[in-house]
Amino acid sequence: MTNSLGLAGKRVLVTGAASGIGLETARVLAEEQAVLILMDRDEAMLAGIARELGAVASAGGDVTREEDCDAMVAKAAVAAGGLDGLVHCAGISDRVAKAFDIDIDEWQHIVDVTLRGTFLACRAAARIMVPQQRGSIVAMSSIRGLIGSPRRHAYGPAKTAVAMMAKNLACEWSLSGVRINAVAPGFIRTPMTDRLIAEGKLDEGLLIDRTPMGRLGSPLEIARATAFLLSDWSSYITGVTLPVDGGWVAYGGAGPVEAH
Ligand code: NAP
Repeated sequence: MTNSLGLAGKRVLVTGAASGIGLETARVLAEEQAVLILMDRDEAMLAGIARELGAVASAGGDVTREEDCDAMVAKAAVAAGGLDGLVHCAGISDRVAKAFDIDIDEWQHIVDVTLRGTFLACRAAARIMVPQQRGSIVAMSSIRGLIGSPRRHAYGPAKTAVAMMAKNLACEWSLSGVRINAVAPGFIRTPMTDRLIAEGKLDEGLLIDRTPMGRLGSPLEIARATAFLLSDWSSYITGVTLPVDGGWVAYGGAGPVEAH
């Protein structure tokens, strides 16, 4: 699908690019011949990935730190000569615990990475995009932010807030030519999901039975939806959160889909 989305030459910063959805999105954008700048916590690992994908720069940092977000955007703009897009994938899962068992500092950390990190990254990118009257941002929400779940008391509400942030910022920036949307992945096979399955916090069999499409999703399926929202193919779409979940949110029945 080379060049099909018109992303060739677009200068795109991808956060969380060392793993999972961010890494796969960077791969898809590299195939589309976008000019890439990659960001993640692990700068050493990222440098190898940046070389492999032909990125023009990579930046280590922590998205909860305003100075790191500003620095990654500044580095991107210098290395690429500007910035047309941001895909914000940096994120963490929570401990998956009942409300009474949650340590509030741990809770705060999840909220900070998810909510504060998304706001800081989007705002830093928009400081370049709004004056140039052009840009597209895609953030990561989750189906956990669209439906209620027990034991996801930091991650779920923070992901709901990411969806609302996309709406609010779209209302503020659209007249400046900057679009912002979010993707709400369902259960996707990434290191984050594998870890939760290995720790017994997710039951893979139950997830498959509860998903209308009868399987987990792949990072590539999220990456392609993300690339669409980033590109001009979605030129009249802003402020939306798109579930990419094999029908998980659509299903309202009780128990396995097959039982109906
Ligand atoms: P992943 O494989 O763990 O990748 C996330 C990347 O973000 C990791 O490289 C991680 O580094 C990095 N990161 C974490 N905190 C950071 C910080 N403070 N500053 C900079 N980088 C940071 O996770 P994923 O499954 O691809 O998830 C990507 C996004 O999609 C997340 O926002 C996640 O909530 C969302 N999502 C995923 C799923 C799913 O099923 N996988 C479902 C719904 C939503 P470390 O490894 O060092 O932490």
